[in-house]
Amino acid sequence: MPRALPPDPRARLARMAAEARACAACGDLPLGPKPVFRVSATARVLVVGQAPGVRVHNTGIPWNDPSGERLRAWLDLDRDRFYDESRVAIIPIGLCYPGTAPNGGDYPPRRACAPLWHPRLRGALPGIVLTLLIGSYAQAHYLGARCGATMTETVRAFRDYLPDFLPIPHPSWRTIGWQKNNPWFDRDVLPELRRRVHALID
Ligand code: SF4
Repeated sequence: MPRALPPDPRARLARMAAEARACAACGDLPLGPKPVFRVSATARVLVVGQAPGVRVHNTGIPWNDPSGERLRAWLDLDRDRFYDESRVAIIPIGLCYPGTAPNGGDYPPRRACAPLWHPRLRGALPGIVLTLLIGSYAQAHYLGARCGATMTETVRAFRDYLPDFLPIPHPSWRTIGWQKNNPWFDRDVLPELRRRVHALID
């Protein structure tokens, strides 16, 4: 009997991605299901954010908004390099736009989404060395009980989660004030973030 060949990682990832893109588990999304993510078998850095905003939903391009501009500045990456999916995979904790709340902010990522898709998609990415956990939802999902009492505490303790994970805040406009009040982020976290990301993708 010939030995069974191990499954081709690219074929496995393509199958998982196709299944995720066809997901319609949430029947009540305001603009309907439209998972937005990027994966490749060679990506070495995984960016796990929150959920697509309406602009990302409309364009189908993750982080295609002012938060993405701030994230790329933090990473010191231009758009070409950030969107090179052979190096950088991008999977939000909720794959579809969850809608906008009456206060103007987006609703949280759908709770069912991360348990359904992250183990499968993450498990099909063979090359990931570093996962950036952006915001409290991503940190709660991947770090669980290892999270600090607040997002700020989790980010401040970033060294405790290396080399696999690096938690940072969600780079929305609200972070501008947070960054001013927490100067250690620019001093300690950003240089380490850039150093580790560039070492993996340059
Ligand atoms: S948010 Fe997630 S679980 Fe819900 S439809 Fe989109 S991909 Fe499926």
